[in-house]
Amino acid sequence: MDTKQFRKHGHEMVDWIADFMDNMEDYTVHPDIQPGEIKNKLPKEAPKKGESMTTIFKDFEKIILPGISHWQHPCWFAYFPANNSPPSILGEFLTAALGAQCMIWKTSPAAEELEEVTMVWLQKMIGLPEEMVGVIQDSASTSTLIALLTAREKASNFEINRKGFTDRLTVFCSEEAHSSVVKGAKIAGFGKDNIRLIPTDETFAIDVLELKKAVIADKKQGLKPAIVCATLGTTSSTGVDPLDKIGVICKQHDIWLHVDAAYAGTAAILPEKRWIMKGIEYADSFVFNPHKWLLTNFDCSAYFVKDKKLLKKTFEIHPEYLKTGVDEIVNNYRDWGIQLGRRFRALKLWFVLRSYGLEELQKMIREHIRLAEMLKQWINNDKRFELMAPVDFSLVCFRFNPKDRTEMQLDELNRQLLESINKTGKTLLTHTILKGKFVIRFCIAQRTTTENHVRNIWNLITKKAEELLKC
Ligand code: PLP
Repeated sequence: MDTKQFRKHGHEMVDWIADFMDNMEDYTVHPDIQPGEIKNKLPKEAPKKGESMTTIFKDFEKIILPGISHWQHPCWFAYFPANNSPPSILGEFLTAALGAQCMIWKTSPAAEELEEVTMVWLQKMIGLPEEMVGVIQDSASTSTLIALLTAREKASNFEINRKGFTDRLTVFCSEEAHSSVVKGAKIAGFGKDNIRLIPTDETFAIDVLELKKAVIADKKQGLKPAIVCATLGTTSSTGVDPLDKIGVICKQHDIWLHVDAAYAGTAAILPEKRWIMKGIEYADSFVFNPHKWLLTNFDCSAYFVKDKKLLKKTFEIHPEYLKTGVDEIVNNYRDWGIQLGRRFRALKLWFVLRSYGLEELQKMIREHIRLAEMLKQWINNDKRFELMAPVDFSLVCFRFNPKDRTEMQLDELNRQLLESINKTGKTLLTHTILKGKFVIRFCIAQRTTTENHVRNIWNLITKKAEELLKC
């Protein structure tokens, strides 16, 4: 493709994307297709001769698009969001055009320095301590793995990096922590048996007394508690672990405190939600995902660490071919994480932060929280439904609870309700289990979602619930 053709197709594609955004509501939120359906429509081998962009794009519309789940749809209420925005898409477009590798300062000086600057902006926006420094990782899972590895090295005085494990180090998190903590602990070599899942209270926050007991029990047995992974905004129900209380335990026992705020960290841009950060001064590391709720398309995970020397010492490598004359005075982000080659992710984040500005972003987050509060009131006012967790952000957990049903029947009924709602293609909701009960999650975090969208889906939920009762 020469630049003349690129210009033609590029213009067409930008028009297509703008139309796609304008007409998003014409699409079903989630495709009703069977596993293998898309694969079977595609050739088994790559073409021997190049095909025209017109042909390729036709197949994109005919084969790929019908199999896409529309995460940017205003009625996408599933999981946590992965929202994008026009400035973010433009930033990503340029990133692809530049094709820069951002592993060290020299391979892309502006990328490194923009990353440094945007991380300071985010740090101030959410009220992180000044002493922390930030770096962009691909995901919260990777960020947590990096925290686990750094904590492992700190606890072993960097012996594990040299000799492998000799001591048994333990990892603590609540039973509601994201699966990435267990996954990361397995990858980092702690071993599944050395992960302590601490029970939670009625708000789904970690039981601090149980945490303290578990730490002391491990020490008594000669094990070495290495890291506590606290969560601000658990995945199932947005429970908030109390950092101030956890922090005291960590400080007393010299344990690394990592904070996973993947979704809810964005809420800290609101002064009225800053309470979640109480005790943040105890944190050794912190992660939140602008690629979830801050309009920056996947991937962009902001990882902050208090002692960058420990981080770098865990990951640094010094091959001759990567040495430069400025290594002592710049940030070479290859040493701040797992990857060597790194994408220029700061560009899209910079576009988003500048294009919207803090006030517009605050307005959007406030509106999502208001809509969630509104939905909560509707649920509370309808005696057939039951709220299943506190609503601190924009996630509402509830279930249908007509009287005289056993817990097992209620689980089955809600499973059927969820299926019948999602089958309509008008929305996608997901489920979880809270304290053994099947719960429907409704997360309001899309850029284009309005009160009407939430109201329509609530009406759909009540209609489907009534239909189920008649069956
Ligand atoms: N932590 C929490 C609390 C999450 O809710 C999620 C995903 O929803 C993750 C971590 C994993 O995020 P990522 O997909 O960026 O690895």
